[in-house]
Amino acid sequence: MTLQDYARGLGERGLLIVKDRAFGQMNGYPYFIYPNWRGSVIHSLAAVFHFSQNVRPRYLKNQVPDTKLTSGTNPGTLTMTVKVDKLDDGKDSLNRFFQKMGEFTDAAHKMGLTAPGKCPICKQGNCDSLALFPQGYVPTHRACVEQSNFDRIRDAADNSEHGNHGLGILGAFLGAMLGCLLVFLIAMFSGNIYAVLYVVIPLASYYGYKLFKGRMDKTALTSVLIFSILSLFAFEFANFAVVWHRQIGEWLSPAGLFSRYFQIMSGSAMLSDMAMPALFLFFGILLDWNTIKSSNKTYVQNAENQLQTLMVLDPQAPAVPGSEVEKASRNAAAVEGRDSLERFGSAGEGEVLGDDIARQSGKQSFSEALKEYQQQKSQEDSRRKEPPENPQNNDTFDVK
Ligand SMILES: [Zn+2]
Repeated sequence: MTLQDYARGLGERGLLIVKDRAFGQMNGYPYFIYPNWRGSVIHSLAAVFHFSQNVRPRYLKNQVPDTKLTSGTNPGTLTMTVKVDKLDDGKDSLNRFFQKMGEFTDAAHKMGLTAPGKCPICKQGNCDSLALFPQGYVPTHRACVEQSNFDRIRDAADNSEHGNHGLGILGAFLGAMLGCLLVFLIAMFSGNIYAVLYVVIPLASYYGYKLFKGRMDKTALTSVLIFSILSLFAFEFANFAVVWHRQIGEWLSPAGLFSRYFQIMSGSAMLSDMAMPALFLFFGILLDWNTIKSSNKTYVQNAENQLQTLMVLDPQAPAVPGSEVEKASRNAAAVEGRDSLERFGSAGEGEVLGDDIARQSGKQSFSEALKEYQQQKSQEDSRRKEPPENPQNNDTFDVK
């Protein structure tokens, strides 16, 4: 199936499309769809459901033949994958895919599975909307999602304005040293250096930077990487000092430590000492990568991405996507999703599939969010206290 077939088919069914994912609800179950690629062709489509019960795929397997059911890392998540590459006509593939989704949701109904009932943000029931969270596409409150993301965007804008590089670098240094000290103490007391502990050092450095209100831009990642690598040397010198104390019986002064160290250790001895820790640290950095590379840009982008997935929760969601009722409700949801983005001054254009996949949108929307924030700063409090009555009316949000 080509990207065009996929985009057109989901668009015709009125699903909410964000980047290359489509969001909807069927038989009362919220879901999102994503394509799996082989080269430039989509070879399978996956629909991800999240239930309030944890269910093993094999219990549903027989009811939905010719599909692959897998459970996710989050309890309650089930993914149904259907191959589409064998059929040349994208339309047939999609029809078959939605037919399988119908069979799947029927089987889920018979098993008594339900969608989660509590909002992940406020933990209350009576949800009115759906949004994408790390655990899946789940019911929530529109107000909760808007408020939390507005706060994130505001904090990021605030940090961009007032964040301090110097303090952040100090925080990153202290964090890395603290993480290093922890790894060192555990190594001293246990007699082993646990590779997994090296995950701690970059994280501690990152949170140190953040805690000291460093400006969250590229300097954050650079500082974290530099101090994580320097912590290897700190570890090495501390280790040398302890070994020296054990064998000679005296504690070296910092100056003495350096001169003794370079006197005794040859280049190759240093290398063999630090090669393993360096390797561990490298894997630590890889594991932490998604966290330590986060910046204001990422925070705003994440907030925007979640806002774009907002949709009105419809417990009576029809079984067949593409019916008139469903189209109307999806369109309304899509408009509302855009509205909430426009409200935050971001690039709230309806997402057009295909053009959008490769597009790097973070920079532009972030600077816009920042500009908007600065303009609206004084009016923000009153606006947050009095939510506009008519969310369809763009003028309501147009504070100039
Ligand atoms: Zn809530």
